[in-house]
Amino acid sequence: MRRGFWAGLLLAPFAAFADSGPARPTVVVDIHRAGAKAVAELKRAPGVFWSAEFGTELLLAIDAESEQAWLRRAGVRPGPGTLRRDEIWIRDHVCTHKALQPALATIGGYELLRMPAASLKRVAASDASGFPLPADGVVAREAGNTEGLKAASPAVPATLAIVDRIDAERWFQTMSALAAFNRNSFSPALGSAHDWIRDALGAVSDETASFEYTLEGLGNCGSPSPPAITIANPIAFQYGSVAPDEWIVIGAHYDSRNSSRCDGFAAPQPGANDNASGCAGVIELARAFASVPTARTIVYTCFSGEEQGLWGSRRWVESLQAAGTIGRVRHMINLDMIGYDPSGSLDARIETNLANQGLIAQYVAAAQTYAPTLNLITSTSTGAYSDHWYFLAAGIPSVFTWENGASIYPHYHQATDLPQNMTRARELAGAILRMDAAVIVDLAGGTGLFEDGFE
Ligand SMILES: [Zn+2]
Repeated sequence: MRRGFWAGLLLAPFAAFADSGPARPTVVVDIHRAGAKAVAELKRAPGVFWSAEFGTELLLAIDAESEQAWLRRAGVRPGPGTLRRDEIWIRDHVCTHKALQPALATIGGYELLRMPAASLKRVAASDASGFPLPADGVVAREAGNTEGLKAASPAVPATLAIVDRIDAERWFQTMSALAAFNRNSFSPALGSAHDWIRDALGAVSDETASFEYTLEGLGNCGSPSPPAITIANPIAFQYGSVAPDEWIVIGAHYDSRNSSRCDGFAAPQPGANDNASGCAGVIELARAFASVPTARTIVYTCFSGEEQGLWGSRRWVESLQAAGTIGRVRHMINLDMIGYDPSGSLDARIETNLANQGLIAQYVAAAQTYAPTLNLITSTSTGAYSDHWYFLAAGIPSVFTWENGASIYPHYHQATDLPQNMTRARELAGAILRMDAAVIVDLAGGTGLFEDGFE
């Protein structure tokens, strides 16, 4: 375990390693829209030893005698063979050429690996991200499978007026325009993408800036290390009228990657879904909030260097810490891969860490009222795989809003990550952005500001 790394960030009471027992046969049960009661009953069913919940799917460890009976039931598929609970390792958003071992299975959008104790030490000491099964066995949960879920509240007209400004077709055009740039962090064209984003944000906000930092060479898979370069994150400010020094930060990385070619920037890497989709989402939110008076300041930014290790967001957080202004950031929303849904049920995830689990209810409520088409999956087991990470590490309430896992996207880090390969892009991104917009109204709004004279 990378103790120092996780301590204080993920306070999840991880599965005790005493909970061993022999390896058991496993099955995977579809629990999409099953409801809290039915999921609890499955976990308590006779012959079930332990379970692991992954949003839309439930992994059950069962006795060998009942396996055939389970597999005859509707919505049950074979699991990844026999498993011990304490050797489960879960990961997401891992660049394929860096993975030390292939996944046994993808369950509910998460990759599941068998990681015996010896390998666990090796992986924990490496850069591979991942985590063991949380003690309660819940990695992610569908909002609809959550006990005590409240009914949707009626829409607030002033909030709805802003949410309705989200234009999914306009977002798609922005995303497609960004996908036309070579946005590898080491590409000579990255600066053009930076300027394009800054200009788009500048047209609908009060002021723009650019955060510059040094990205080290970081060569890998035998390729020569490129020289260190200076790159930048475009930033835009829409100032609040009551508390301008209280910031709500909306961020997404704009760089892209083609991992099949060892990060060479000459390889095609349109990164339409990863992550022109999220950066275009930041721009769409800025357009929706253009000229909307808010109490707090909304800060829009697209990060670079994400694919090399979250450098753009990390360095910016560090610079705010060094300047003593990190306390201005009251909340951070991260968007990374928001435009792919092969499930047919418009699955979307909201993730944070256990310390911030209280934030989830606000997003669930926003989705219920303003984006009811979303099948929301919530998790307090987020990892160091996108730009919310260093905000969480700095103690800032941060939430990652995205599709149902990187492993569901067959074009991840490939030359084929193109707009036309993003199934249900407009519906999913449009709904995620409506949810985020409603949350931003709550976070940035302030009392009374929306009641006077706005539309
Ligand atoms: Zn990404």
